[in-house]
Amino acid sequence: MRASATLDWLGCATFRLTLGELVVYLDAYVDRVPAAPPVGVTTADIERADWILVGHSHFDHLWGAETIARNTGATIVGSYETVRVMEQHGVPISQLVPVAGGERVRLSPDVTASVFPSQHSCVWSQTKMTAVDEVCVGDLRVTHQEQQARFARLVEWFATLDQDVQAHLAASYQGARGDGGALVFLVDSPQGSLFYQDTSGHWSGILRNLRPDVAVLATAGRGNVDGEPVQGTLAGFVAREADLLRPRRVFLSHHDDWLPGFSTAVDVGPVRAALGVQAPGVELVETGYLAGYPLFQHLV
Ligand SMILES: [Zn+2]
Repeated sequence: MRASATLDWLGCATFRLTLGELVVYLDAYVDRVPAAPPVGVTTADIERADWILVGHSHFDHLWGAETIARNTGATIVGSYETVRVMEQHGVPISQLVPVAGGERVRLSPDVTASVFPSQHSCVWSQTKMTAVDEVCVGDLRVTHQEQQARFARLVEWFATLDQDVQAHLAASYQGARGDGGALVFLVDSPQGSLFYQDTSGHWSGILRNLRPDVAVLATAGRGNVDGEPVQGTLAGFVAREADLLRPRRVFLSHHDDWLPGFSTAVDVGPVRAALGVQAPGVELVETGYLAGYPLFQHLV
């Protein structure tokens, strides 16, 4: 009998993938501001984890990985920046696997995680996140330095958010220098394959050569297509990714109100409509937190 495969959403872009006895965290950001909807678990509660695959080194993905690694002995797979930050936070080198894309990491005798380079969403192009069906155009060919300057203005804007957010930003500050280079993962198991993405960006040439059974697609901010901001809507961006990947089933990530004042709870309706046009036949699954969704059920 094939071992079970379940996916639990833990808010923002964090998931727990359970493949039989194997427990894999996808990102590690679970401890949130009081105003964010409660996930139902904190990093301190997590007793079992074998691996933590981290998409990039921003706090809303990486913060908590050091706690989970310490409490469970899990090994963290992430960018060299993620590994640098985790080492500074006391995670032993023996529990850190730095990757840059191109690696296939064995997670168990019959499960591997392939790592691919990716892109971060164009977080520099916005302050408060726009609606999923808002058409955004322009901001093309903006240099790295100008993007950095605009990102600095976003950081200043963050300082105008309320006291709870300020306290959270201070507590979760890990000293990461930027996003560390975004990564995506393709987990291959006897039960099926899962593509995981934690920020709305991609290299289209990479996505179109992957054929996962199920894809987790980040749905927040301004999409990044091969280094340039998407010309159109976020919903259209996600649908285009589904068209490139051709999964049978899609979960969204990063789409809840994880940092009220900055984030917005994404209206899934326009995403569903865009998928219906661009990637018909792909099933869009909406779950709450900790739903233990049977990941590959009825697919294979
Ligand atoms: Zn980020």
